[in-house]
Amino acid sequence: MSAAVVVGGGPAGLIAAEVLARAGVAVRVYDRMPSVPRKLLLAGHGGLNITHSEDLERMLPRYGAAAERLAPMLEVFGPEHLRQWCADLGEPTVVGSSGRVFPRSFRATPLVRAWLGRLGELGVSFERRQRWTGWTDDGAALRLTGADGTTSEAAGDVTLFALGGASWPRLGSDGGWVPLFAERGVAVAPLRAANVGVRVGWSATFAERFEGVPLKQVGLAVRARGGRVDEARGDAMVTRTGLEGGPVYAIGAAIRRALDEDGRCVLEVDLRPDLSGAQVAARLGRRRPKDSGSTWLRRSLGLDAVSTALLREAGDGVLPGDADSTAGLVKAVPVRVTATMPIERAISTAGGIPWSEVDDALMLRRLPGTFVAGEMLDWEAPTGGYLLQASFSTGVVAARGALSWLDGHRMP
Ligand SMILES: Cc1cc2nc3c(=O)[nH]c(=O)nc-3n(C[C@H](O)[C@H](O)[C@H](O)COP(=O)(O)OP(=O)(O)OC[C@H]3O[C@@H](n4cnc5c(N)ncnc54)[C@H](O)[C@@H]3O)c2cc1C
Repeated sequence: MSAAVVVGGGPAGLIAAEVLARAGVAVRVYDRMPSVPRKLLLAGHGGLNITHSEDLERMLPRYGAAAERLAPMLEVFGPEHLRQWCADLGEPTVVGSSGRVFPRSFRATPLVRAWLGRLGELGVSFERRQRWTGWTDDGAALRLTGADGTTSEAAGDVTLFALGGASWPRLGSDGGWVPLFAERGVAVAPLRAANVGVRVGWSATFAERFEGVPLKQVGLAVRARGGRVDEARGDAMVTRTGLEGGPVYAIGAAIRRALDEDGRCVLEVDLRPDLSGAQVAARLGRRRPKDSGSTWLRRSLGLDAVSTALLREAGDGVLPGDADSTAGLVKAVPVRVTATMPIERAISTAGGIPWSEVDDALMLRRLPGTFVAGEMLDWEAPTGGYLLQASFSTGVVAARGALSWLDGHRMP
């Protein structure tokens, strides 16, 4: 019987363990935490958005530069497979109004409980509180360090790493693996915060009054030097130190690029993305003489207090008086972003092991018989179920790759 060592008990590692165990491989899963899969369980607190219902043609571009490499993997184990897998575990899925897919209970706990039960039945064994700390000097085995400092070694016929990124490190994935791979000559793109809020230097009055208030259904845009514009729409939440929420995350890569290239990023907030500039100007043109600035904006455009305050914030406390310049501002309020929030507060991580380091089966070119899956690979995507989907898809593909490799090496 062949043996596989899986390091990392998140969704990518566990689905890989399942695929390997079903094929009759003896699987041992190592994780540094006392229980798994912690991030998946936390994801369930706000409603576990496990995948998205859109077809692959629409879904693939969400993965940006990684779309081409991920495409065949989403064919192998795509949204429909993932939904069927949930249903088989007793958690049929439902599609929310935005097209996002959730388990019927909206939580992760029932799914995880059933999954761990199934893995137990398949004979998968777990070694918890074991941190992988590198390879033995001859590279033949993995080194592990227990929570009490004791060290041990582990080896299998194949090894599969699914160590996650570096966001929310207290849940287990802390990016500690990066230098270990670098030592073996495997390139790793720096881990960066993705799906994360941004810092804005609000005035004290604005921050105090509007912390926790959403800018409803706004458009956000980042203009790059070469003319490229990245845009997203939705609710952006004002925080004491900046902005959070779906549309901010969706253009996060463009914000990061602008900050890297120019050291600054101006986010343009469109307060009425449903109206053209001319329509906004026409509505503003019908100002009644007795209307104050905020009444004028509310009556003509339906702008709420936070939107009006954002306009004032951009004008150092003053609103422009004429319809045309106010319309220009309403369609593109400049908000100066100074940084992204730290990776510890990010939902996911960009960067990781580049695609050039792995073959189509996700085997490391430099370390034959060693496979990688999940967020530790260099891809990123917005929220919407795309993160878990790609973690599962790459986990399945890496496990199948490991099975073929075992086959090729006569280790059925
Ligand atoms: C608050 C929050 C909410 C989220 N909600 C959603 C959502 O609704 N939908 C969605 O699609 N995505 C969501 N995500 C993202 C999603 O959870 C991750 O993309 C996914 O868990 C990544 O899976 P993974 O298996 O690659 O890594 P992880 O889930 O991070 O698992 C990696 C595992 O490796 C272990 N590990 C790391 N280093 C070592 C080591 N050296 N030795 C041993 N073990 C190690 C860790 O302990 C961990 O158990 C959310 C993330 C967060 C933080």
